[in-house]
Amino acid sequence: MVISFFKKLFTSQHRLAILIPYRDREAHLAEFVPYMKGFFQKHHPNLPLQIYVIEQTHEKLFNRGKLMNAGFTIAKNNCDYICFHDVDMLPEEGHCNYSYSPYPTQLATYLDRWDYQVPRADGWDVRKFYWGGVTLFPNDCYELINGFSNDYWGWGSEDMDLHQRCLHQGIFLKRRNGRYTCLDHKRADKQSPSAVKNRIRQKTISNIDNICEEGLNNLEFKVLGEKTLETDVFFITVEI
Ligand code: UDP
Ligand code: MN
Repeated sequence: MVISFFKKLFTSQHRLAILIPYRDREAHLAEFVPYMKGFFQKHHPNLPLQIYVIEQTHEKLFNRGKLMNAGFTIAKNNCDYICFHDVDMLPEEGHCNYSYSPYPTQLATYLDRWDYQVPRADGWDVRKFYWGGVTLFPNDCYELINGFSNDYWGWGSEDMDLHQRCLHQGIFLKRRNGRYTCLDHKRADKQSPSAVKNRIRQKTISNIDNICEEGLNNLEFKVLGEKTLETDVFFITVEI
């Protein structure tokens, strides 16, 4: 009886859904999906996994956070934890661990494009706070912070807002050592009006008490198309 209880505790598999924010990165997606399939077969062969590519339509600026809220809403009944995963980051062999964590966990800690070093900008240790790229969340933690903000349109700062939401709710945050190869792309203009607006928004919001008041609770989106790319890989187009 006692033995079977512990056996269940240690062998029960949490189901993972990888959620990919996506628009117009065909070449990256064509490389990402087969690479990830192979990676999981080799390094996590028994982990129940589904991959959801969440594509945004073209009318508006890209909104990574809101897309991930839509993805979570779509996937949550089929998984116990989620991984927000940029399409241009490939885990390096033997260095990335996607197994269940009861805490929000940053996996993208060592990036080839940062020379696997601690990047510093104006004395700011980016890696200490960096909360983008590849992050795991148990479903209940993600619900507790009311998801991402829906209000970051264009590049940047939604990940810092997510980090701040966790701190605000007193959630313990974890980092695992993970090494990633980043696929090349044209870099977003970090001085564009939308990127600047997002930075200002994030700095302002991080000081207020009701940072978590919008997110999953007021999310609106429409599913416009769904297809299965291969077994357990879904491509879902949403209007947000
Ligand atoms: N993304 C996308 N199309 C876009 C912008 C972003 O598919 O036009 C997705 C993609 O998964 C990408 C992630 O959002 O990896 C983060 O955006 P980006 O790569 O531009 O950010 P950065 O590399 O500057 O952090
Ligand atoms: Mn990128």
